[in-house]
Amino acid sequence: MSFRLVVGMLFILMGSTSSVFAQVANRAQNVVLITLDGLRCEEVFGGADPRLMTKENGVEKPDELKEKYWVEDREKRRAMLLPFLWGRCQEGTAWIAGDLENESLVAVTNGLYFSYPGYNEILSGFPDPAINSNDKKYNLNTTVLEWLHSKPAFAGKVAAYGSWDVFPYIINDKRSMIPVNAGWQPFHVGAPDRVEVLNFVSKQLFHQWEGVRYDVLTVSGAIEELKTNQPRVLFVSLGETDDWAHEGKYEKYLLTAQQNDFFIRQLWETVQSLPSHKDKTAFVITSDHGRGDGREGWKNHSDKLPGSERTWAAAFGTGVGSSGVDQGGKYEQAQVAATVAALLGEDFTTFKSSVRPSLPIVK
Ligand SMILES: [Zn+2]
Repeated sequence: MSFRLVVGMLFILMGSTSSVFAQVANRAQNVVLITLDGLRCEEVFGGADPRLMTKENGVEKPDELKEKYWVEDREKRRAMLLPFLWGRCQEGTAWIAGDLENESLVAVTNGLYFSYPGYNEILSGFPDPAINSNDKKYNLNTTVLEWLHSKPAFAGKVAAYGSWDVFPYIINDKRSMIPVNAGWQPFHVGAPDRVEVLNFVSKQLFHQWEGVRYDVLTVSGAIEELKTNQPRVLFVSLGETDDWAHEGKYEKYLLTAQQNDFFIRQLWETVQSLPSHKDKTAFVITSDHGRGDGREGWKNHSDKLPGSERTWAAAFGTGVGSSGVDQGGKYEQAQVAATVAALLGEDFTTFKSSVRPSLPIVK
């Protein structure tokens, strides 16, 4: 073989390798999927609702709350509530859909509009009429988390942290072998001194709800997981917004929404501090259902309360090819599952014909 031929072949090889690198660099190596339970499109896109900042809706000092969350301008108002998410959307580094004022819709298709059917739809990629309660029953469907976990490239690299104690059943931790830390379960992963403090606080704090722990604990556990095991797929489900709403406490619902935005930022900053994840990770954020409207309706969600059938979705990071506020798009909650896979270069629709296609936001 002549020297010239060898050099020529080398160039061809290098050329093809670098184009493969370019493709991989545009694609996420990791995905963090975050859900905020029952946070309405109304607040995500419109910020605080002045009709609900009243004593009757659990606000002790309405004037003080309005000072904190109310300005006339809708875009400024929503950025006061969710500064990290809207900051990214405004600078063009995040995509968000579901704003009725832009005729954008993210539809919940399960017809029931409560949590287990919603989380199944988000994670399994289709609505399942057999899931018609929030009972602790093991999910018969294979979630995108389980499907990815069964692949060698993701084995042992998928983890889930949820505030709600039904997640071990929704993700079927027994069958999927995915570690699911949810409800008031103690934490096991992380720096020993931090895990010890987290477990102490978690045990000693007054438990407002038996089945839902405070989101700050869930996020702290998830951050320890990221630092310790660097999971390629991390699911973080925050729950307090829904519970404060059910209790009719609008002030706490707003504060929790704002806190969740801060937690998303913390997760992002943690990801960006890890060599395994920095500039190689996509975030997908959504909610399991909408809620009703009006002074009473906002507290609950069901097939009897219009608004419950609408949710929203956002995404940013490596491999997300769309940005800004979606105009006129019609999407389904069920598309989130295939989107998580597509961001990682995997096609979840090949698994089952009922799995809905990915959102059209993947590079
Ligand atoms: Zn609820």
